Amino acid sequence: MPELHVVDHPLVAHKLTQMRRDTTSSERFRRLLTETSLLLTYEVTRELALRDVRITTPLTQTDQPELVAEPVVISILRAGNGLLDGVLQVFPSARVGHVGLYRDHETLEAVEYYCKFPPLEGQMAIVVDPMLATGNSAIAALDRVMAGNPSAIRFLCLLAAPEGIAALHNAHPDVAIWTAAVDECLNEVGYIVPGLGDAGDRIYGTT
Ligand code: URA
Repeated sequence: MPELHVVDHPLVAHKLTQMRRDTTSSERFRRLLTETSLLLTYEVTRELALRDVRITTPLTQTDQPELVAEPVVISILRAGNGLLDGVLQVFPSARVGHVGLYRDHETLEAVEYYCKFPPLEGQMAIVVDPMLATGNSAIAALDRVMAGNPSAIRFLCLLAAPEGIAALHNAHPDVAIWTAAVDECLNEVGYIVPGLGDAGDRIYGTT
């Protein structure tokens, strides 16, 4: 069964509401998005593998857990970089890939203009994009990530539409989705409703 995890936490819900408000400035939107992505990262990495290592504390030697490996983070440009900032605060040494996709406004299809990934073979990849709308960009990005043969892939977003969840699960049933909320639907031009508008524009003040 494809997995969908809706992160149910009062802080996430509160910050998301502030991001949805049309009066929230880009500066505040960015700060809220970074704060929220820290909280989402905590959830999406909950089952990362640990191994015991021998360490010396000021008192004694002891075997304690540490991460086997950090995940590789893939940002879907450009809005993905808004989530990436928070993820990198938790994993400062993570390797990062970028895939540039824009939506053709006529067809709503994803068109790739850039792609550069670190080695993915055997790594856990977390693909980040704030909005899972039609799913076209996410599916195109995941096709590219899959080709690198990672050991597991997780998709992390802020808002998801039911249509995007269904499309992504259909194309990539092994990819688990983490989101802060599932909204009602897409409108006729592929925006999430009630949503928060164009995430890239909200982050970078390009409206
Ligand atoms: N991309 C956005 O930034 N917002 C939407 O509502 C849908 C896709």
